[in-house]
Amino acid sequence: MLSRFIAYYKPYKKLFYLDFFSAILAGFLELGFPVAVNQFIDKLLPSKDWSLIAWACAGLLFIYALNAFLNYIVTYWGHMLGINIETDMRRKLFDHIQKLSFRFFDNTKTGHLIARLTNDLMEIGEMAHHGPEDLFIAVMTLIGAFVLMLLINWKLALLTFIVVPLMIWLAVYFSAKMTKAFHRLFSDIAEFNARVEDNVGGMRVVQAFGNEEFEKKLFDQNNLRFRVTKLLSYKIMAFNTSFSYMLKRLVTLFVMICGTWFVVRGELTAGEFVGFLLLANVFIGPIEKINAVIESYPKGFAGFKRYAELMDTAPDIEDRPNAVAVDNLRGDIVFRDVSFGYENEKKVLRHIGLTIREGETVAFVGPSGAGKTTLCSLLPRFYDVTGGSIAIDGRDIRDMKLASLRRGIGIVQQDVFLFSGTLRENILYGKMDASETELRAAVKRAQLEAFVATLPDGLDTIVGERGVKLSGGQKQRVAIARMFLKNPPILILDEATSALDTETESAIQQSLAELSQGRTTLVIAHRLATIKNADRIVVVTENGVTEQGKHEELLAAGGHYSRLHRAQFQS
Ligand code: ADP
Ligand code: MG
Repeated sequence: MLSRFIAYYKPYKKLFYLDFFSAILAGFLELGFPVAVNQFIDKLLPSKDWSLIAWACAGLLFIYALNAFLNYIVTYWGHMLGINIETDMRRKLFDHIQKLSFRFFDNTKTGHLIARLTNDLMEIGEMAHHGPEDLFIAVMTLIGAFVLMLLINWKLALLTFIVVPLMIWLAVYFSAKMTKAFHRLFSDIAEFNARVEDNVGGMRVVQAFGNEEFEKKLFDQNNLRFRVTKLLSYKIMAFNTSFSYMLKRLVTLFVMICGTWFVVRGELTAGEFVGFLLLANVFIGPIEKINAVIESYPKGFAGFKRYAELMDTAPDIEDRPNAVAVDNLRGDIVFRDVSFGYENEKKVLRHIGLTIREGETVAFVGPSGAGKTTLCSLLPRFYDVTGGSIAIDGRDIRDMKLASLRRGIGIVQQDVFLFSGTLRENILYGKMDASETELRAAVKRAQLEAFVATLPDGLDTIVGERGVKLSGGQKQRVAIARMFLKNPPILILDEATSALDTETESAIQQSLAELSQGRTTLVIAHRLATIKNADRIVVVTENGVTEQGKHEELLAAGGHYSRLHRAQFQS
C-alpha cells in the first residue's frame, strides 16, 4: 500500500527534492541556533567585543531570515506537491469510473462516488504534502537535537530522554485510534452525500408526495451519526493535543529543575544551560510535527484505502486483447441461444434465438418486465450475455472494440437524459465535432427548428439540470437530433414515445420514421399503432420469443399479439 502511494510522487521528484532539502536545511538551522546562543553567552559576552557581538547578532538575524524563506518554500511548494498528487489521483479515478460497467453503477450510490472524488482525495492531498519528508526530517531533528544535548551535558541529556518511550507510545496509540475513527467518518460522509443526492435529485417527488418530514427524519439520522463520529474523532484529537502539550511542558520544567541543579553544582555554564533549554524545545518541535503527521496520516490513509479499492474494481466489460475495431457496421444481427440474468441465478432471458437482417425494422412487444429493454441493452454490451452469443455482420460483438461497437449503435429511450448546459451542447453530444451546418440540418430533421426559433437565446438556451426546462416532446426531439448527428447504422428505439400524448407522439413518429431510414432498427413499443408497419413484429414474454411475423400474420394467428391488439383497440 505504501509503495503504491509513493509511486504517485514519481512525476514530481524535483519538487519533492526541493521541498525535502529546504526542510533539511531549515532543520539544521533550527539546531544551530541554540548552539550559537550557547557560544554567545559563554564566549562572546565575557569578551565584551561589541563589534563582534553586533556582527553575531546580524548573523543570527540572517539565519532567521533564511529560515523564514525556507519555511515559505516548504509550506508553499510542499503543498503544491500535495495538490499535484491529489489532482493526478482524481483524474485517474475519474478515468477509471468512465470505464466501469452498468452493473457497477446499478449497485453504487452516486453520493459515494462523489465523496471518493472530493473529500477523500482532499485528505490524501493533505497527507501527500505532509509526506514522508516531514516524518524523516522530524526524526532527523530529534536525533540531531539529542546528539547536541549529549555533547553539552550527557547526564542531563539522558535524563531528558526518559520521555521518549512515552512519546512513541502516545504516537502509536493515538494513530491507531484515529485511523479507525476517520475510516468511519469517511463512510459517514459518503452516505451523507448519497442522501443529499437522492433527496435533491428527487425533490419534485418529495414535494409532490408531501414527504418532507420523512426526508428530514431520514436525513437527521445520517446527520446525527455523522456528528457522533466527528465528535469522537475530535475527542481523540483533543486528547492527543493536550497530552502532547503536557508532555512538552513537563520536559521544559524537568530541564529547568535539573539544569539549575547542575549549574549550582558547577557542572553547567549559564550559556550551556540556555542552549540546552533551547535545544530541549527544538527536541520537542519534532514531536509536534510527528503529532501533526499522526493527525493527517490516518485521514489520508483511510482515503487512500478507499481510493485504491475503487481503482481495483475491474470493469466487467472490456476489450478482449484481440478485439478489432469495426467501422461501417452493416447491421446484420444474430442472437444465438442468448441467455442472461442480472443476478446469476435469476435468468431474465432464456435461450433467445433471433435473426435481424440489415436495414430491417423489427418491433418488440410484450408484457412489461418480459426483458425487451434487457435484450436491447445486450447489443451495445451494456451487459454481457451469460449464455449464447450475439453477432453483428457475422462477428461476435465481444470480439469488437467496445468503442467502435457503440459508435455503430444509437439508442433513444423513454427518459432522455440531458446534461445541464445549452441545447447546442446537448445536441452536439451526438457528434462532438459536427459542423454548424450539420448541427442545423439535424435540428431541422428532428423538427426542432420552430421551437428553437421561439427561444431568445436559440440553441444557446440553457436546458436546466437534466433538461427540466424542456417538455417531454422537446427532450425527445433533442434525443432525435443527437441521433441524426451520430448517424449509427443500428438504431434502438426503446419506448421512445410512450410517455408522450398521442398528438405529440404521432408528430415525433414521423421524425423517428425518417431517422430509421436505411438503418437496422429495433423498436420497443407499447402502443401497437406505432409499429403496425414494422417489417416484423416479435412478441417477447417471460417464455422468450413466442411469436413473430408481420402485423397481419400475427393477427391471423390469434395469439398473444392479437389479444393485445384487441385490448388496445377496444380502449
Ligand atoms: P421490459 O423492457 O420488457 O419491460 P426489462 O428488460 O426492463 O423489461 O426488465 C426485465 C427484468 O429484468 C425485470 O424483471 C426487471 O425487474 C429486471 N431488471 C431490469 N433492469 C435491471 C437491473 N439493472 N438490475 C437488475 N434487474 C433488472
Ligand atoms: Mg423496457
